Amino acid sequence: MLVVEKGKWYRAEDFPKTNWTLSKWLWAPALRWYGIMKITIFRHVGFISGTGVGGGSLVYANTLPVPAKAFFESGSWAGLADWEQELQPFYQTALRMLGASPNPKFFDGEHALKSLAQEATPGAEPAPTHVAVYFGPEGEETPDPYFEGQGPARSGCTFCGACMTGCRHNAKKHAGQELPLTWRKQLGARSLPNRKWLRSSREAVPMDRRGYEVTLRPSTTWA
Ligand code: SF4
Repeated sequence: MLVVEKGKWYRAEDFPKTNWTLSKWLWAPALRWYGIMKITIFRHVGFISGTGVGGGSLVYANTLPVPAKAFFESGSWAGLADWEQELQPFYQTALRMLGASPNPKFFDGEHALKSLAQEATPGAEPAPTHVAVYFGPEGEETPDPYFEGQGPARSGCTFCGACMTGCRHNAKKHAGQELPLTWRKQLGARSLPNRKWLRSSREAVPMDRRGYEVTLRPSTTWA
């Protein structure tokens, strides 16, 4: 299996230091900006999405909430299935793969939100968000804490707050990070960054081979 990605494949040190480094933060190929965040504006709606191996997980704020019961039981999908039950295993897999842990530190913003919540609902005890961040010793590298030592090393979060531009400290977990080698072999998947899909056809593939012939073009170079 081949995963084609038009953005780049990032190491921790490749992420921009601040969001003022627009060419590394935003995706706007016409300006030769090949960053991690793409903004798409339509007439009635706008989208923010991620570009790069790992997609949206490169540029989100790490939060991994599982919706409350009311979400699964409302909307046009409510009567189709017991979605809370159906989707539970997939939420669990995502939380495990992204290393969800409760945020251990509250700063001014969290304290303000907590007081607002308690003012609105007396007696409420807001819980910390679950985030895809490794909270080991701050700034210290530790052997892989997620996949029984088979994955890459991680460093403890330094609480620098730069999660939306990626994480240059290797504390934020995103879907573009290396999986343990044994898993990669089992899955037989590989990623091909810096390529944009143009077309694919089944007919062009010789009869003795299964698959598609796919035409790609480079996406992060001028030519
Ligand atoms: S080290 Fe900074 S950028 Fe990385 S997860 Fe922690 S707060 Fe976010």
